[in-house]
Amino acid sequence: MQTNFTLAQLADPDIAEANGILRNCVHCGFCTATCPTYQVLGDELDSPRGRIYLIKDMLENDRDPDEKTVKHIDRCLSCLACMTTCPSGVHYMHLVDHAREYIEQTYRRPMFERVLIASDTDHETQVPSGISRLVDHLWSSERLEVVQAGGRHGRVERLRRIVDHPIVRRTLRVCWENHDGAYNCCRCRKCLITMIGLEALGVRGSFPTFPGDLDLDLLAEAELTQMIQLVMWEDTLDAAQAAGRIDLAAPVARLVGRGKRNLGLPPSYRSRAATG
Ligand code: SF4
Ligand code: SF4
Repeated sequence: MQTNFTLAQLADPDIAEANGILRNCVHCGFCTATCPTYQVLGDELDSPRGRIYLIKDMLENDRDPDEKTVKHIDRCLSCLACMTTCPSGVHYMHLVDHAREYIEQTYRRPMFERVLIASDTDHETQVPSGISRLVDHLWSSERLEVVQAGGRHGRVERLRRIVDHPIVRRTLRVCWENHDGAYNCCRCRKCLITMIGLEALGVRGSFPTFPGDLDLDLLAEAELTQMIQLVMWEDTLDAAQAAGRIDLAAPVARLVGRGKRNLGLPPSYRSRAATG
C-alpha cells in the first residue's frame, strides 16, 4: 500500500512503524475470510483491510478521529485472526494498538451514547402522554440516542417477568405519596395497582415492601381521568380476569367503567385489540 507521510511525521517512531506496516499490505483481502467482525457484519470497514484504510487515512492526515473511524476500530476484537491469515506479514496488532492509543488521546467520547427510557405501557396501547414511543426518540441528538424500551409488554406482564428476582422482592417500590414516610403506603393508586398485579400473579405474600392489607374498597374512591391511567387499569383487569380472581376483577372493572365515562368513551371501548 502506498503511503504519503511527510518526513516530519516519519520522525515520530510510532508513525514510522505504522508506515512500515501499512506498506506491507497489498489489499489482497485474504484477511477478510477469517475476520469475525467482517463475517458477521459484512461491512468492508469492519474487516482488517477496511480498518487499515481508516487508520492510514487518520494518521496520514493527522486528523482527529471521527465517529465512523472510532466505531469500526472499537468493533475490532483484537483476536488477530487476520495476522495469521495475512500472506504479507502485515503486523495488524501494532497498527491497531497505535490507532487505539491515538484515538484515546485525540477523541472525546460522549459521556453517554445511549439512554434507555422504560415505557409506561406497551406499544399496542400507547397514548401520546407520559413516556411514549411517539415522542421519546425526539430527544436524541447526533451523539446521544434516546430509546424507549420495554414496549413489547404490558404492565402486568412486565411485573410477571421480574417478580421472582430476590432483589426485586426485597426492594420493589412504586409509591408516589409515601404517607407517613412509608416505603410503599399501600393506599395510593400506584401501590394499589401494583398490589393487585402481584395478587393476580399469586406472589403478593413474597413482597415484604408492601406490608399493608390490600384494601379494594379504596378503588371505589378512585377516579381515572387520563387515558394512560385507563390503559394501565385495563391491563390489570385483564390479568385479574385471566387469573380467575373475580374478587379483584369486579372492583377494577367498576373503576375502569367509571374511567371510560370520565373520558367520554363508550362502555365497549378497549385500548387493546385482543387481550392477553
Ligand atoms: S483482530 Fe480485528 S480485524 Fe483482525 S481478524 Fe480480529 S476482529 Fe478482525
Ligand atoms: S491479508 Fe494482509 S495484505 Fe491482504 S489485505 Fe489483509 S492485511 Fe492486507
